[in-house]
Order: sequence, then C-alpha cells, then structure tokens
Amino acid sequence: MKINEIFYSIQGESTLVGLPTVFVRTSGCHLRCTYCDTKYAYHEGRQMTIDEIFASISKYPARRVCLTGGEPLLQKESYHLLARLCDEPYSVSLETSGDINCCDVDPRARCVIDVKTPSSGECGRFKMENLKRTNSEFKFVIGSEEDFFWSEAFVKQFCIAENFVVLYSPSFELIEPRWLAEKILQENSIARLQLQLHKYIWSPSVRGV
Ligand code: SF4
Repeated sequence: MKINEIFYSIQGESTLVGLPTVFVRTSGCHLRCTYCDTKYAYHEGRQMTIDEIFASISKYPARRVCLTGGEPLLQKESYHLLARLCDEPYSVSLETSGDINCCDVDPRARCVIDVKTPSSGECGRFKMENLKRTNSEFKFVIGSEEDFFWSEAFVKQFCIAENFVVLYSPSFELIEPRWLAEKILQENSIARLQLQLHKYIWSPSVRGV
C-alpha cells in the first residue's frame, strides 16, 4: 500500500489525546477540505508491504498505532493492516473523512470519523451508515458560527451524542479556541472541545526550553 510517512509523536486529537502513538499516514485523498494541513499526502508516498509497515512501527516503543491520511480507507489494504495491528495486539485507531462507510473496519479499532462542516467545502459527504458502527467518535471541525450551528443541528437530528463522543475542534487559522469554548458554554452544547494538541506542541511560535 502507498504510505506517506510513519512517525512517532503525541496524539493530538480525539479522546486518545496526549498518548504517545505511532502514526501511519497513507497517501491519497479524494477530498479537498479548505483547511487541509496534510496536502503533502495527496500524492507523495512510497509502496510498502504490510510486513514493511510493521517493521517500521516496531522501531518505536509505543503499543498504540493511529492510521491516518489522506484517507486511509481508499486503499483496501488498510482494512487488513488494521486487523493485523489489532491481532498483534496494538491499541489501534483510525482517522477517516466520514465519506466512506467504516462498518467493515475491524471492530477493535477505534474510528475517529469526521463530519465535514460547511466551511470545509466538502459538506454533505457524510455516509449515514457510519452512525451504526460502535467503537467510534465523531469530529466536527468548526471554522465559523454557521459551522457551529450546523453541527449542533446535525448532532441533534441524528441523536449522535446519545451513543458517541462528539468532538468540536476549532479550525486552526479561522477561529480562536476561546471563541469556540465560549460558544459551547453559551449554547450548552453536548460537544467536547478539542484542541489540536500537536499544533501547540510543535508550533515554531511556541518556545522550547
Ligand atoms: S479528508 Fe483530511 S486529508 Fe482529505 S482533504 Fe480533508 S482534511 Fe485533507
């Protein structure tokens, strides 16, 4: 399968935030979200066998792996990779765009599924079958007031919070985290505020010691 990069870092998103994790980033995405921060993964990458991917992962001490992209589920081998990682056993998560049905993903893998909001430019792509998959959580990237209220309505209409964790993440360059925090409080939203922790840790504007 075509892999863009494999690296070891702190998980910056989802309910697994803060945990040391090995990331396997696949190459290729069929969407073009306005805020995409992994455009370099649209085409760049090299072919690797699943054994080669395992060999790269095993160089790191973590027993936690996140398959991300791009859109990992565009490649059929991703399903085999996720199952084999679960067998190993690694603690496994998958980050996916919400535009592909995740129901065939190994049930032991935690799916972090995007619901694309209006400012993404890819709104309306969500596959409703994804609401049937357990061991999932749903992420909304909020870039405007319209996105916020659109997400609130979506969560309410489909009763998502009754069965899943709902995450609202501020679009990094469009709104301030504080604005979103205040909005969640004002509107008594069921969503959990999520900051992209890795961007604060690795940002060049944040001074190290
Ligand atoms: S789905 Fe993810 S990788 Fe694809 S364009 Fe959107 S943000 Fe970028």
